[in-house]
Amino acid sequence: MDFTLNENQKMIQNMVKRFVKDKLAPIAADIDKKGEFPKKIVKELGKQGIMGISVPSQWGGSEMDVVSYAIAVEEISRGCASTGVIVSVNNSLVCDPILQYGNDYQKEEFLTPLASGKKLGCFALTEPGAGSDALNQKTVAVKDGDYYIINGSKNFITNASEADIAIVIAVTDKNATKKSRSISAFIVDMKSEGVSIGKIEDKLGIKGASSCSIIFEDVKVPANQLLGNEGDGFKIAMTTLDGGRIGIAAQALGIAQSALDDAVAYSKERKQFNQYIHEFQGIQFMMAEMSTKLEAARLLVYKSAYLKEIKDPNYGTFSAMAKLYAAETASFIATKGIQIHGGYGYTKDYPAERHFRDARITEIYEGTSEIQKIVIARSLLKN
Ligand SMILES: Cc1cc2nc3c(=O)[nH]c(=O)nc-3n(C[C@H](O)[C@H](O)[C@H](O)COP(=O)(O)OP(=O)(O)OC[C@H]3O[C@@H](n4cnc5c(N)ncnc54)[C@H](O)[C@@H]3O)c2cc1C
Repeated sequence: MDFTLNENQKMIQNMVKRFVKDKLAPIAADIDKKGEFPKKIVKELGKQGIMGISVPSQWGGSEMDVVSYAIAVEEISRGCASTGVIVSVNNSLVCDPILQYGNDYQKEEFLTPLASGKKLGCFALTEPGAGSDALNQKTVAVKDGDYYIINGSKNFITNASEADIAIVIAVTDKNATKKSRSISAFIVDMKSEGVSIGKIEDKLGIKGASSCSIIFEDVKVPANQLLGNEGDGFKIAMTTLDGGRIGIAAQALGIAQSALDDAVAYSKERKQFNQYIHEFQGIQFMMAEMSTKLEAARLLVYKSAYLKEIKDPNYGTFSAMAKLYAAETASFIATKGIQIHGGYGYTKDYPAERHFRDARITEIYEGTSEIQKIVIARSLLKN
């Protein structure tokens, strides 16, 4: 068993680290404060091959392995968690399903500009009545000659307000004998007539990543933009989320690492009772526990990325474990990070409170922690 990163993985880690240190970390607090989508940063990341890391070069990507992808999202999120999710969504939830299920026309037309950073994508599954219960879709797509006509609405969609392309999940056959065969996936141009952006959410954290609703009113989508076959939509959505969870788990790692680094640094600056607070065993124990949990989370995240890379059929169970554990670890570490900062950690003068707000979402999106436990338990009990 080899736990060392290979040369390519080290190369992307160093490259992203440098980018984050020079360009992203210095403006992360500002992105959070203004709630501003980091357009320029996303464009630059696109030029550096970060928007389609594991996509073959033939389709505009960087053709790197899934561990490299996880490392890149981790390092970006270490600087700015909002940028981390923007990158994760484009890579995992948009490029990946087109790569896995798209035909050559779809790869040429949609994947290539998405993976090379010329366009940005979003993934539209959630609806007001279909959150954890993703099968309860109300958005419909009705075949009409060479088109499908889509009507309905989606909410909480990351990147939607900035996106050029959306993967949209909709019901195509409400009478299907199996409900899981009732829905399909489509590649939709966000500039299509009838697509509009609704409410932009005012969120607790990841404030630079816009999350909003999308309304579809008689949107005409060419039939050749159906992804896979009719009835494949649920399978596409679920397998896409299996991979997406690696990105969110990596985002959680980055937030947690930043919270730990800041706490250690602060403990070396702050004096109480005439000594630095890191000299108190109580503070040391907190930091030791934070560091141990973080390392355990990292092992799970990299393992799940590796299993996806080698196409292990059970990688989805591991990505659920990785997301569950890394997300809860990020919240734990960010909470302790505030504790180590004392009252100052509760103010906006230090990034500890931003890490705390950013960490929280990793326990919710792409399946809540409870849904990850369902996925894990189901795999335990299936035989
Ligand atoms: C900032 C943000 C960005 C997002 N980005 C996207 C995106 O890009 N694309 C997209 O499609 N969606 C996105 N989402 C939606 C997200 O995936 C859902 O919010 C999430 O899946 C939970 O759904 P819900 O909010 O409807 O909660 P609900 O499903 O209503 O859950 C409420 C509570 O009930 C629990 N619960 C539900 N069912 C069960 C069960 N069977 N057993 C035990 N407990 C259960 C949940 O764990 C949770 O604690 C985003 C959400 C947010 C907040």
